[in-house]
Amino acid sequence: MSNTITYQQCPLCNSSNITEVLQAKDYTVSNEIFSIWHCTDCTGRFTQNIPSPATIGAYYQSTSYISHSDTKKGFINSLYHIVRNYTLQSKRKLVQKISGLQKGALLDVGAGTGAFASKMQQAGWNVTGLEPDTIARENALKNHQLKLQTLDALFNLPASSFNVITMWHVLEHVHQLHDYINTFYNILKNDGVLIIAVPNYTSRDAAVYKEYWAAYDVPRHLYHFSPQSMQQLMQKHGFRVKEYSPMWFDSFYVSMLSEQYKTGGNNLIKAVWNGFVSNLKAIGNARQCSSVIYIITKNK
Ligand SMILES: [Zn+2]
Repeated sequence: MSNTITYQQCPLCNSSNITEVLQAKDYTVSNEIFSIWHCTDCTGRFTQNIPSPATIGAYYQSTSYISHSDTKKGFINSLYHIVRNYTLQSKRKLVQKISGLQKGALLDVGAGTGAFASKMQQAGWNVTGLEPDTIARENALKNHQLKLQTLDALFNLPASSFNVITMWHVLEHVHQLHDYINTFYNILKNDGVLIIAVPNYTSRDAAVYKEYWAAYDVPRHLYHFSPQSMQQLMQKHGFRVKEYSPMWFDSFYVSMLSEQYKTGGNNLIKAVWNGFVSNLKAIGNARQCSSVIYIITKNK
């Protein structure tokens, strides 16, 4: 089995009209360079020559991969944790508003250490959480008494059983993209909602930082979505993007990291400024946000 996957077609829409646009470095783990390709048909981007499912694990071996480790070291990480508490509340409110339900059945895919899943459980939701990382699952059990399952469990969940499926910054990591989306279609109730948050390379902060934009996060991010490519991908699977919701804090977090990658230091003022201007551009148009929350329903 080969250690890398080379796409001959766009992994999102299958088009052959693909071309290299950027070379980005893996700043968190390997320092390797990966090229990013652009599809002129769906406008999606993807990382080329990605590690296979069998070999990508090595690229997650880093203490700075905070969503898995819950470390509180460093300024950016502490800020991240403060903001996360606020963000968790906003996510809960969004789920309740969009689904029209105070409680229901929720599947959280890529639950990390279980902070969001736990929040929803406390609010009375019946939560199923999936997480590939063993240490993250152990932490979820230790910190939140949550028993998360491995990702394989996804393919054995009963049909039409969830009101809401959430994926917070997870879809861009998934090799079996189309299998996942097909499965979501099957296990989601007909009036259910799929909520997918991913970075947006068409945001202003992405345009400012170019190959230093932290949310390219190669090779862990296999795909780099534009709002248009997400809509096309969802329509291919019988869904449609109904609404776009902003994630205001991601622009600051991503700008701070990007500034570090670009200059090797912390230029907080510049990072905050770029995060701020990025958000300013996205007011009234969530499709311009650094990260976008896609509210997706079955296309009936
Ligand atoms: Zn495409």
